[in-house]
Amino acid sequence: MAFSDDIVKQAWERSGTQCECNKRNHSHHYIPCAKFLVWNKRGSNSQGGWETFQIDPAGAFTLDNCEVLCWRCYEMESLNNSGPAISNSLEFK
Ligand SMILES: [Zn+2]
Ligand SMILES: [Zn+2]
Repeated sequence: MAFSDDIVKQAWERSGTQCECNKRNHSHHYIPCAKFLVWNKRGSNSQGGWETFQIDPAGAFTLDNCEVLCWRCYEMESLNNSGPAISNSLEFK
């Protein structure tokens, strides 16, 4: 249940190595967020860290449904889209 390496690569190239987040309820002032990302920091909670995000959770794992988000945006979106159980488990880690 994840994007294939192929899709991730294409999404990464589309992003121009910047966060594609355009959520207005996030703390970044700019739309899109455009935070600078580092390819080999995928899945890393650190400077330049990022992850692919499934825009429509019920949608397919296609490029159109794939967003490259910096770690901060990714975490915010993950919390928004998941139930309290997952939020709680994150908090207590
Ligand atoms: Zn971002
Ligand atoms: Zn954001």
